Amino acid sequence: MTNEQTRREFLGSMAGFALLPLEQEKPDLILHNGNVWTVNDAEPRAQAMAIARGRFLAVGSDSDVLNLAGPGVQKIDLGGKTVLPGFIDAHSHPSEAGRLHLRMVDCDLRSIQAIQAALRERASKTPAGEWVLGFKYDDTKTEEGRALTIADLDSAVPDHPVRIQHRGGHTSYANSLAFRKAGIDEKTPDPPGGQISHDPAAGKLSGRVAESANSYFDKAIPLKFTREDCREGVKLISKMLARTGITSATEAQGTPEDLRAYQDAHEAGELLYRAYCFINYHHLDEMIAAGVRTGLGDEWVRVGAVKLVCDGSISERTARLSVPYEGRPNDYGILVMTEDEMYTVGRKAHLAGWQIGTHANGDVGIDTTLRVYERLQRESPRRDPRFRLEHCTVVNDDLIGRMKALGAIPTPFSTYVYYHGEKMRYYGAGRLNHMFALRSFIDAGIRPTQASDYPPGPFEPMMALQSEVTRTDTKGNVWGSKQRITIEEAIRVGSLHGAYASYEENIKGSIEAGKLADLVVLGRDPLRENPSSLITIPVERTMIGGRWSFEA
Ligand SMILES: [Zn+2]
Repeated sequence: MTNEQTRREFLGSMAGFALLPLEQEKPDLILHNGNVWTVNDAEPRAQAMAIARGRFLAVGSDSDVLNLAGPGVQKIDLGGKTVLPGFIDAHSHPSEAGRLHLRMVDCDLRSIQAIQAALRERASKTPAGEWVLGFKYDDTKTEEGRALTIADLDSAVPDHPVRIQHRGGHTSYANSLAFRKAGIDEKTPDPPGGQISHDPAAGKLSGRVAESANSYFDKAIPLKFTREDCREGVKLISKMLARTGITSATEAQGTPEDLRAYQDAHEAGELLYRAYCFINYHHLDEMIAAGVRTGLGDEWVRVGAVKLVCDGSISERTARLSVPYEGRPNDYGILVMTEDEMYTVGRKAHLAGWQIGTHANGDVGIDTTLRVYERLQRESPRRDPRFRLEHCTVVNDDLIGRMKALGAIPTPFSTYVYYHGEKMRYYGAGRLNHMFALRSFIDAGIRPTQASDYPPGPFEPMMALQSEVTRTDTKGNVWGSKQRITIEEAIRVGSLHGAYASYEENIKGSIEAGKLADLVVLGRDPLRENPSSLITIPVERTMIGGRWSFEA
């Protein structure tokens, strides 16, 4: 781009900007000498940004923007560093994860022995008989190459009930005392939509339960969080996200308590990301009765979609598929809600003006969810409902065509290929070319987002970029190379598309005048980086609303 072009585009953006009420405003901060990738098609590159009251006042060349500096304005020389819009994690569970980090043993460890040691240590500080709880366990990531058993947990912690949740959140593992407290024995039948696993040889409890069978434990465990705890959880996770460059995140299974925690943390000055708080459908009636719907709130805390759940999980291999899992000829996965239930709840939400986000991983789950959305739109058409398919993992041309026709938004897992590579063989190489299908979505004119689903997936945006661009796991295995996208596309997926998914593309997602001053400063330029080392690019600073939320 020539200087003259840059200047013309810059002036162009200023001309448009003059219509905004901020017209008279003087910048209070100028960032200059940057290598700025704006994700704004009208002006893709810039050097400098003027910021006033938390928003970009002007974006352009150094000379043009520095010209706006009045006396007393703070100027920061970026030293040529690369700047991108702040990352938007469009499906995660940050508030929930923050609370779990406060209370539970982090079982993201690489051996069963290490997990046993961590549990033993926690038990030593816990009165006998009280629960020892863990999370982020992953049966495929321990060096023993097998899942935790009831015996492993009994031998580690005999005198406390123990329950460990899988990283994916759909299965959990418990010791004998925990099963007794939960009221489950060898003869307890599987509940609808759930499984109580048995050792196939002995018929005894294996220690694992799946999907709705988790509720036996949820009821037995007196895990209570005070209002203060909930705020603390948001504060804790805020710091974790800020250091990775995230400035917005969707709370994908939120509750009224999460909304309150977000507001509490924001008022206390502790919230460091903008929260789009989904509401679990169990709370839909009370929200509608209170006159609440999607969009209520402000740019910090906003009510998101109502959350429905159609099928199981990818990382725990319970997603509902039309073709069984590799090597498990009778295993098609699990459907959690029936189509009728989804329609009944969905209709109530749709008529009340809510966006709907349905967890749908397998092709059967996605097909079912789309059928519900299509029916809602046919019976009660709404302008721009932005139906969301949370995860939307295993797709085909028919599903993609229907998504495009509906304007539906997929939020595929961004870090799974890289981080959960060892689980990909359960889906098979052929199917992988239709999973996390960013290439297919973008080519069809659909706007997929970046989404970690933390805790199930790591939330580091640099890992997401590498995973999406290379489709390669940590051991160098390539999974579904047909779905690779370019680094420019991956950045847009992680910024502007995320803003679109929450109806906020006019206020964030790109670096342009009038939008919120959310950005990340990187140690190296991802567009010049070898794709297989994107994850090593350091995040040096994160800014939200014109203030640094993280500085290395
Ligand atoms: Zn989720």
